[in-house]
Amino acid sequence: SYKLGPKVSDWDQQRDQWLIANPGFPSRIAGGKPKILLVTGSPPNPCDNPIGDHYLLKATKNKIDYCRIHGIEIIHNMAHLDRELAGYWAKLPLIRRLMLSHPEVEWIWWMDSDALFTDMAFEIPVNKYEGYNLVIHGYPDLLFDQHSWIALNTGSFLFRNCQWSLDLLDTWAPMGPKGPVRDEAGRILTASLKGRPAFEADDQSALIYLLLSQQETWGAKVFIENSYYLHGFWAGLVDKYEEMMEKHHPGLGDERWPFVTHFVGCKPCGSYGDYPVERCISSMERAFNFADNQVLQIYGFAHKALSSPKIKRIKNETSTPLEAKENLNLRAKIKTG
Ligand code: UDP
Ligand code: MN
Repeated sequence: SYKLGPKVSDWDQQRDQWLIANPGFPSRIAGGKPKILLVTGSPPNPCDNPIGDHYLLKATKNKIDYCRIHGIEIIHNMAHLDRELAGYWAKLPLIRRLMLSHPEVEWIWWMDSDALFTDMAFEIPVNKYEGYNLVIHGYPDLLFDQHSWIALNTGSFLFRNCQWSLDLLDTWAPMGPKGPVRDEAGRILTASLKGRPAFEADDQSALIYLLLSQQETWGAKVFIENSYYLHGFWAGLVDKYEEMMEKHHPGLGDERWPFVTHFVGCKPCGSYGDYPVERCISSMERAFNFADNQVLQIYGFAHKALSSPKIKRIKNETSTPLEAKENLNLRAKIKTG
């Protein structure tokens, strides 16, 4: 069956040796945190709907902001590394390629183009994941009891750079090749997973199917996270931002101030989706501005409203800017609540 590439079977040793031989490329950043590479991507061609390109740009700016604030590296891929794994499957060959090309990276964090950081202060509790190789948002009861096709979400997840992850990618990919293979796999997934409509195999259903059918092999190293929104479904969140701003503050990451707002089912770049384009666009605008306010406040500005790209000044200019800087620091603000 389909292969992602030549089998790599001793990656942990190869990587360890490389890290020892290349002390100038440590797998930890200042402060001892593991090096994280955030990876996102979009199709190689312009959007069918031009407004989609504008929101792709906004979503990428949002990710650059978050990564700059938190010392995370970022890649935006627009190439199809493997023609057979186009579309949502494109992340698999990409993640594999990046693991092998960046042995200094400890975690590869995939994030969909249609997912926005909406808590600019929250940080992944990475120490919690020692001993785990895949961190993904989801619900164990939906997965193991209900076999639901939305038990996990592959819009935002972290893979440790290790042999286990390469093995999982190798096992996952064969359901992806476009055409009869992907179509047939789709039929099996629809027959096996609760709530799944009939369509070709998607990466999310395939992962759920794999974790269910090969639980013994993979289960122990998968951390199913739901104590904060590593992925948060947009429809339940975007109308509550004003209320959140009134009652809470960034840094919580959960329903009080969601870490990620993901526009599942919106296809502003394509020509059709599960929701009206106008509702998707106005909701994305709100999510972007909600997040952007957390960045702009560092500089003394805020959006006039969550619906508006226009901004207003929220702090007066001063002749001693460094004295005022402390108050504007995002993280300092979090600590004081
Ligand atoms: N994607 C990509 N290249 C492509 C098509 C899609 O990198 O040619 C990525 C893009 O980041 C997108 C993700 O695959 O967000 C998953 O697709 P989508 O978000 O449309 O799926 P949904 O989350 O709505 O199920
Ligand atoms: Mn998505």
